[in-house]
Amino acid sequence: MTTFYHSTRSDSETVTSKQAILAGIAPDGGLYVSDDAVRNKLDLRAVCQEGYHQIACRVLGTLLPDFTEQEVASCVAAAYADNFDTPAVTPLSPLGTDWLLELYHGPTCAFKDVALQMLPRLMSVARKGEGRNVMIVTATSGDTGKAALAGFAGVPGTGVTVFYPDGKVSDVQHLQMVTQTGDNVAVCGIRGTFDDAQTQVKRIFADRELAGRLAANNVMLSSANSINVGRLVPQVTYYFSAYAQLVQTGAIVIGDEVDFCVPTGNFGDVLAGYYAKLLGLPVGKLVVASNSNKVLTDFLTTGTYDRRRDFVKTISPSMDILVSSNLERMLYYLTDGDCEAVAGYMADLAQKGYYTISNDLLAKLRQTFDCGF
Ligand SMILES: *Cc1c(COP(=O)(O)O)cnc(C)c1O
Repeated sequence: MTTFYHSTRSDSETVTSKQAILAGIAPDGGLYVSDDAVRNKLDLRAVCQEGYHQIACRVLGTLLPDFTEQEVASCVAAAYADNFDTPAVTPLSPLGTDWLLELYHGPTCAFKDVALQMLPRLMSVARKGEGRNVMIVTATSGDTGKAALAGFAGVPGTGVTVFYPDGKVSDVQHLQMVTQTGDNVAVCGIRGTFDDAQTQVKRIFADRELAGRLAANNVMLSSANSINVGRLVPQVTYYFSAYAQLVQTGAIVIGDEVDFCVPTGNFGDVLAGYYAKLLGLPVGKLVVASNSNKVLTDFLTTGTYDRRRDFVKTISPSMDILVSSNLERMLYYLTDGDCEAVAGYMADLAQKGYYTISNDLLAKLRQTFDCGF
């Protein structure tokens, strides 16, 4: 059986997971989702006896079914080798009566390493059928840029170009970016803000003439941000790994429900937790944690998503987001795959600046998601 991905806004055109990873975003502006892949259940008993690599192979094999077992295994082995400073990759440590999932053991210390060490390898395999080279273009306020540079450096058939606002990223992140080695990486400080960088990157993507010239030279542009399926799927692994570690240390027994509290920006990380739940992980509540830009807290409290508000600059810039892209995928699953409804919400958001879901849908959402800021 081949499982296909399609846009959240229409299911008339389907692609393989390899094509979805190369494209990043669907042509109609929607995000790629799968109906069949998330109906599978992982063998929880087996998972609870396994280490990170084995669990990653299970998760990726299930959600990216057109990758062969060997392709998945080689991507996992390369992505989570001694570039992480512990074989546990994402170890769990006690914190009072709670547990802390340590997502900072990768090469740039950003949690995004877990996905961005994997995405380039998935792209490298996926482009083999395609023949073209992939150039990643991304704007960054810090974390994504350095993790993307480190992830794509030296990966065959790929390149990465990062734009950051000069003087507006931390000294550590600035140094991490400008000292990145590799002959397929480029980094560029711009005069302006992160939004300026982001706007220009969007212009590059929308430039048909440029796309034509690149295609003639066998190059396609793609994005490394968290709307890419290839960034979402690797994050599902650490929810299963966290659960397995809790079982292995005797803190819980198999079947107990675990709540996860997740700092949120683009809704990528917490959505990966929802995918884990779909795949059979006993997840109790997923707590969506925001900063002062609390658009998601308001949405989960009132049912209205409203981006018409002032943007607050905080000490956690990766969470300073008013349009949380991956929520669109959650709306798709929440409405039982009603593409028309999702397209309607997104049109309202673009045109009016807000949308409202029904009380029934809000109640359903609140069965799984809690929130705070
Ligand atoms: C990217 C990032 C976030 C937001 O993650 P999402 O998956 O976009 O919700 C939160 N904190 C830090 C430190 C990050 O780098």
